[in-house]
Order: sequence, then C-alpha cells, then structure tokens
Amino acid sequence: MSAKVTGIRGMSDILPDETPLWQYVEGILRNVAQSYGYREFRVPVVERSELFKRSIGEVTDIVEKEMYTFEDRNGESLTLRPEGTAGIVRAAISNGLLHNQKQKLWYTGPMFRYEKPQKGRYRQFHQFDVEVFGYEGPDIDAELILMSARIWQRLGIDAVQLQLNSLGTPESRAAYRDQLVEYFSAHKASLDEENLQRLGKNPMRLLDSKLPEMQSVIAGAPQLTECLDQESSDHFAELQSLLTEAGISFVVNPRLVRGLDYYSRTVFEWVTDQLGAQGAVCAGGRYDGLVEQLGGRATPAIGWAMGLERLIELVRIAETPLPDPGPDVYLVAVGDAAGRKALLLAEELRAAAGGLSVEVNAGGGSFKSQFKRADKSGARLAVILGEEELAAGQAGLKDLRGGADQRTVAWNELTSAIAQSLQAQ
Ligand code: ATP
Ligand code: MG
Repeated sequence: MSAKVTGIRGMSDILPDETPLWQYVEGILRNVAQSYGYREFRVPVVERSELFKRSIGEVTDIVEKEMYTFEDRNGESLTLRPEGTAGIVRAAISNGLLHNQKQKLWYTGPMFRYEKPQKGRYRQFHQFDVEVFGYEGPDIDAELILMSARIWQRLGIDAVQLQLNSLGTPESRAAYRDQLVEYFSAHKASLDEENLQRLGKNPMRLLDSKLPEMQSVIAGAPQLTECLDQESSDHFAELQSLLTEAGISFVVNPRLVRGLDYYSRTVFEWVTDQLGAQGAVCAGGRYDGLVEQLGGRATPAIGWAMGLERLIELVRIAETPLPDPGPDVYLVAVGDAAGRKALLLAEELRAAAGGLSVEVNAGGGSFKSQFKRADKSGARLAVILGEEELAAGQAGLKDLRGGADQRTVAWNELTSAIAQSLQAQ
C-alpha cells in the first residue's frame, strides 16, 4: 500500500454526520440576517497581502505571525484571508458600493490563521459576519447587537455574556496611548520580551495579553474611559440606553480593546464560560476610519464576526433539538426489474407537489439488508417494491417510526398515501 496523504493540522474535515448541525445553524444565521434586511456579499478567500497589513495593522498577532502568505507564480504576495472585514471593505470600495449609498451586508466562509491548534482554535475556521456602511450609530450599533442576541435566542443558547467598551476617536486613543506608555514604562520589570516590543509599537495591545503574570499590572493600568472625548462618550451612553431599553444585559469592560488596529468607538464581545479558554464567540466593533484608510471616501462602518466552530459547540452543549435530517422515504426494491422501476417511481415522488425527499436503495440486496439501510438512513417511511408488487402495480408502505402496520397502495395513489402517513407521524 502507498503511504497515506494526511490532512493539514488545525484544518478539520466536517463529516457528513456533522453537516446537518452546520446546515441548521447556518440556515438560522442566514435567516436572521435577512430578516433584519441584510444582504449577502461573496468575496474571494485570497487577497493581496498588503490589504491585511494596511487594515489589521502591522503590530498585531494576525499580521505578525498568523497569516498564510505566499507568492503566486507572478511573484505577487497574496494571503489567505485571516478575517473578513478587510476584504469586504476592499470589495465595497472597488465595486462602488459606498458611493452615496448605505449598505447592510452579511457573509460567511472559511478564514485562515496559523495559530496553535487546540479545542476551539483552528487554522482553518469559519465565520459568519455582518458589516454595515454609512451609518454613524448608535442606533445601528444597537441593531447589530440585537441581531446577535436574536441568534442566541433562535439557537437556544443562553450562557453568553455581552461585554462592551468604547475606544473613542483616534485622538482620544492617542491620548490614552501616551498614558499607557507612561504607566507600563514604570512597570517594565513585569513585561516579557514580546510585550516590551509592543510597548514601543502598539501599547494598547498590552491590555490584550493573556499572560497570567501580566494580569495584575493590567488591572492597575489607566482606563480609556477617562480619555474619552465628549461625542464618543455620548454615543456610548446612547448605545447603552438603547440596549437597556431592549432588555439586553451587558457589562462595560474598560479593558476590552480588541486585537485589531482599525476599531474606533464601540467595541464588544460575547463571551461564554462553557468553552474553556476559547471564550469569545462573537466579536466586533465600529471602524469609522477603515474605508478611508483603504482608499475610499470616509464612511462610518461597524460589524461583528461569529466563530462558527465555537457557536456550534455551544449549540451542542445546549442540546437544542434539531430538525430531522433523514429523507421522507427510503425506497426498498428487491430484484432487477423492481430496481429499475424504483428509480422511476422515486423521480415521480420527488416531482410531486410538496417535493418529497426520497433515497432509493442502490446496489441491490435482500429485503433484510435493505431494511437495515432504510433504518440507518433515518427515513420516516419505507416504500417497498418486490416482484409481487411490481406485477400488481402496487407498493408496500411502512412506517419506520412504529405506528400502523405495513399497507399496500397502488402506484397512482402513492403520493397522497405518503403525505397522509407523514402527517400522522
Ligand atoms: P481570540 O481572542 O479567541 O483569539 P480573536 O479576537 O482573535 O479571538 P476575532 O478576530 O475577533 O477573534 O474573530 C471573531 C471570532 O472568530 C472570535 O470571537 C472567535 O469566535 C472566532 N475565531 C477567531 N480565531 C479563531 C480560530 N483560530 N479558530 C476558531 N475560531 C476562531
Ligand atoms: Mg486571536
């Protein structure tokens, strides 16, 4: 035997047994976003490396060490997208979607980061994101958060907590930055090599540090709230009041700064204690400066991203009942002639009003083995064709979830008999 080609560490196969749960969750996400008037946008998974460096920021974990960057055959530096916002902004600008227009958008797909793989943290993972352009908020900020809360409700998840903060304008961030440099310079002894470097380049990142020995120093650091400009402060107060009115509880976390450079004003995270160390399920914020920074006309914007692997794990833990993934009917057909007829009969059933889902037994087999497969398929009913039924223009109809005994039905009455039996279940 030849050696097996293995998959790539941190990039999971989603097995057919698991895809019903994924489809269910994705369906709800799509449905909720559309119900708020958001439209889907599909953009490439590869972009020029420069796009991510200019938007996410050079001194961030993602750009410093997590990007999958390569040269194409033309010698151009390309990167597999580590997040979605940058590509959406690039595409919205290059397709002229921001000229005198507002946009409410959603998208979903794989993201790539070269991280240390562990539970809840992968190298290929999936996000569902929403992005809004042209609204200054705070009403739209509240709407985005309400939409995420609606998703928890629809998925039966309640073990999540909303954390909020405001980063103010670039000017108030600059003032805060100076305070942080002063504070952490006085605590240099507690910083490791990496954090010392950050102190020079991007001191807000120090607040993001997960190092246990840093936590008490971080706790004593000055808070951004003290540097907030009046307008940002009013914006933040109004957002909090809208959320309170809508019955959404939250905590203001002055340490929440988010890892990416492009945020301003509102930032938020939904966190849970049910997933161990990987507690952030949904994260986002306002990025009013990014469109201009990437060559577009200044446009206020805000968005969030949900990690689907973590979300799906929460749905599993919550044991939310899922819709039945099996087909309506499994068609059992014994003998060559019955097998041929079964293919045609199944087509008729699928074409009938209501569009039944039908799995036909392929590859022959005895009644016994075919019934085993029927059970395994999760089908609700079996339609049975043997030589006798074939000769009489009939089929057997059996409830695979218990219920009534098997009965015999003429082919031309099969659709209505099936509908009746499905209703009775
Ligand atoms: P973390 O602090 O866990 O590294 P992050 O701040 O880097 O998260 P974002 O860039 O805000 O994450 O991405 C939004 C969401 O995507 C996260 O809240 C999380 O649910 C999910 N996510 C991020 N990185 C990964 C990953 N490597 N594997 C699985 N999910 C991820
Ligand atoms: Mg991260």
